[in-house]
Amino acid sequence: MGRSPAFSKVRSVTRIPAGGRSRVDLRKRDTDDSILFRDKDQALVSLDADAQRIDVLQDALFAAQAGSLLVVLQGIDTSGKDGVTKAVFRYTSPLGVRVHPFGRPSEMELAHDYLWRIHQAVPRRGHIAVFNRSHYEDVLVVRVRNLAPRDRVDERYEQINEFERHLVANGTRVLKLMLHVSHEEQGRRLKERLERPEKRWKFNPDDLADRQLWDEYQEAYEIMLRSCSTKHAPWHVIPADSKTRRDAIAARLVLAELEDMSPTYPDPGYRPDQFQID
Ligand code: AMP
Ligand code: MG
Repeated sequence: MGRSPAFSKVRSVTRIPAGGRSRVDLRKRDTDDSILFRDKDQALVSLDADAQRIDVLQDALFAAQAGSLLVVLQGIDTSGKDGVTKAVFRYTSPLGVRVHPFGRPSEMELAHDYLWRIHQAVPRRGHIAVFNRSHYEDVLVVRVRNLAPRDRVDERYEQINEFERHLVANGTRVLKLMLHVSHEEQGRRLKERLERPEKRWKFNPDDLADRQLWDEYQEAYEIMLRSCSTKHAPWHVIPADSKTRRDAIAARLVLAELEDMSPTYPDPGYRPDQFQID
């Protein structure tokens, strides 16, 4: 019996079925993991071991220069998108990982289609890219705050599925993680941002306006999960009220993806015994 839950088990607990046949009800999904990790210690051990293995596989991926991995992180404010990035890639060489935060689009970005800025940040061969927010904001905040006409937003789910299909067909794996926190836990974390001086920079009064729109955001997330969980790029919902378990689950899913890719070191094209070094 290993210390970490099997990849297949983690996937079956978190994955949203492809095909969009049934409605996704986020209220029925745990925000606190009670299935995968027995306790915090087990999660910590698993996370650390997985993060080390991720470093090993990233090195091989970089050397192989074959495929690439895109990790998309979505979740409301305080759900832990930064925290997951730091934890999962704690041992990974910065040479091969790029993190791209997507905030409010610039004037230049708004002058293009919404996927323009996204496509430019897609990982090159051999790299891992982490999107902290993503093209999904264009069906989340944009939907909830009516930043584009509703029928334009409704067309985007299929466009996004096609875009991701294109990436996958061209050698980029797409792993999509939604961090699922409860209303109470978000309240606690926002309070903490005000109380702790080193966290105040993260507080934005706009977060409170988004919190007022809680139900609308949950609904937008449910529609996104249902419409854009596909065979080629499924969505995973990670219970995120406990930071350690959240990170440990995310690490399992990233590692599972890299293990599936099984990158191997390329043939150098010479025999080491051809050379003499004095
Ligand atoms: P943060 O992740 O806390 O730095 O905040 C980034 C902000 O940018 C969030 O409020 C997002 O909702 C917002 N944002 C990201 N993408 C878009 C978009 N395409 N349109 C409008 N707002 C966006
Ligand atoms: Mg924020």
